[in-house]
Amino acid sequence: AKRESKHFIQQAIDADLAAGRASGVFTRFPPEPNGYLHIGHAKSICLNFGLAKEYGGTCNLRFDDTNPAKEETEYVESIQEDIRWLGFDWDSLHFASDYFDQLYEWAERLISEGDAYVCDLTAEQTREYRGTLTEPGRNSPFRDRSVEENLDLFRKMRAGEFADGSRVLRAKIDMASPNMNLRDPVMYRILRATHHRTGDKWCIYPTYDWTHGQSDSIEGITFSICTLEFENHRPLYDWYCEKLGIHHPRQIEFAKLKLSTLLMGKRHMLRMVKEGYVSGWDDPRMPTISGYRRRGYTPESLRNFCADAGIAKFNSTIDIIRLENAVREHLNAVALRRMAVLDPIKLTITNWPEGKVEMTEAINNPEDPAAGKREIPFSGSLWIEQDDFREEAPRKFFRLKKGGAVRLRAGYIVDCHDVVKDADGNVIEILCTYDPETKSGSDSSGRKVKGTIHWVSAQHAVEAEVRLYDRLFTVENPGDPEEGKTFVDYLNPDSLKVITGYLEPALAEAKAGDRVQFERLGYYVVDPDTTQQKMVFNRIVSLRDTWGK
Ligand code: ATP
Ligand code: MG
Ligand code: MG
Repeated sequence: AKRESKHFIQQAIDADLAAGRASGVFTRFPPEPNGYLHIGHAKSICLNFGLAKEYGGTCNLRFDDTNPAKEETEYVESIQEDIRWLGFDWDSLHFASDYFDQLYEWAERLISEGDAYVCDLTAEQTREYRGTLTEPGRNSPFRDRSVEENLDLFRKMRAGEFADGSRVLRAKIDMASPNMNLRDPVMYRILRATHHRTGDKWCIYPTYDWTHGQSDSIEGITFSICTLEFENHRPLYDWYCEKLGIHHPRQIEFAKLKLSTLLMGKRHMLRMVKEGYVSGWDDPRMPTISGYRRRGYTPESLRNFCADAGIAKFNSTIDIIRLENAVREHLNAVALRRMAVLDPIKLTITNWPEGKVEMTEAINNPEDPAAGKREIPFSGSLWIEQDDFREEAPRKFFRLKKGGAVRLRAGYIVDCHDVVKDADGNVIEILCTYDPETKSGSDSSGRKVKGTIHWVSAQHAVEAEVRLYDRLFTVENPGDPEEGKTFVDYLNPDSLKVITGYLEPALAEAKAGDRVQFERLGYYVVDPDTTQQKMVFNRIVSLRDTWGK
């Protein structure tokens, strides 16, 4: 879908550029390396990198690594891989931890100017003194320490002379402010934890608020785009930049992407991985970018989806069907068509010459003539889908029934005259005759049948493991469980079924990451678990939405 008008962030940028308030569009994507990226991050990536490109500016990647307890190098690497896979590249790569020295120096400056102080209140006392939304807070008894005492204590904090959590550095702003974030916010905490980059150099770590704006400033960012929950932090962002007298980027907030049926927070995803509800961060059912990659989604489909979802100022939930449709739409245009039978029943052509194999030709992609054609072996013994046959069928059933006829795609019209049953009366084989005048492409019979079904020649079929993925949760909002329940109660027991599929031989050539349409069934991708001995396919998405049907 095309977007006719500019969204509010583009409008704000246009206004700032026109008024000379900004020199260009310099943005950044600032993930915390405490987990893998999810589809919500994809939206922020598309927005930040997209704006930089649109306005001829730059976009940095900056790891917001101020919380050593949760951050790991594995995450730093996966995040870079995911951004590149989505189709973006950063102008420069930074780590907030590279600014720890500068931030420390700036903190001493605020102390010297009487704008920050060391506070000895316990965490609980601090909460108590902070007040509530309806009641102003009270000044800490340590608020009026002298500059000298504060400097001395802060240096001792840094030198490791105090226990973890025993003191903090706070900005001296306003304990009566209606904005809780301005009630003397914490700038540094004492924490002995090994940082993934700075090791044990520091035992004090800056908070998000004391880090983010200044990191933006150091990098010359002009538009610092973040999500709505930071709206109330903007006055603090502005206060720090003003007090320090440094380049002052403009923070603009937009609504987080939320999709029905997904659970996206890194906290929740970490639990799903750790407790084994999924096979890892890249399990094809995960809402992570690496999960979508393994599931077979294309980067184009994720980008198209993000563009289509738009940029909003208010939170809302987008129907997951829109994401599924985005990948259907892209794969419909680019995926090669192949035949595969996933729930087989034998079809025998009783008038087919014994042992004969004939090649038939089929179009690779009706949406793309350049994709050409392929040959498929046809024989007297085929697999078709159980579902495509009924012994007793209603009049409107246009697939195969006893006494009826159907076209085999890229093959012949066959007439069913009998079935073979097992001892329990189940049909185990369908007996047909073929009509030699009806070969696809050279049909001279003039016969018309309503149905066309897919098939695979039994002796030529390639067997593969097929992983049928479905939604991980059965409810719209697994992140908002009923009382006494958790997301675990909403896991879909049928989110993965593993079956054996019978594939046309052309698929033997497919490599990990190749995506195809199994005709009439859905889109599938070759999974990296594929070996010389065994191919593995993942279902990306069915052809049509069948959830709950
Ligand atoms: P989560 O806990 O869900 O992983 P987060 O905001 O803590 O989210 P960060 O690593 O801090 O994750 O996010 C990096 C950037 O991505 C931030 O600018 C953040 O605002 C943005 N972002 C995170 N989640 C979403 C979302 N659902 N929609 C849009 N942007 C998002
Ligand atoms: Mg964050
Ligand atoms: Mg987070």
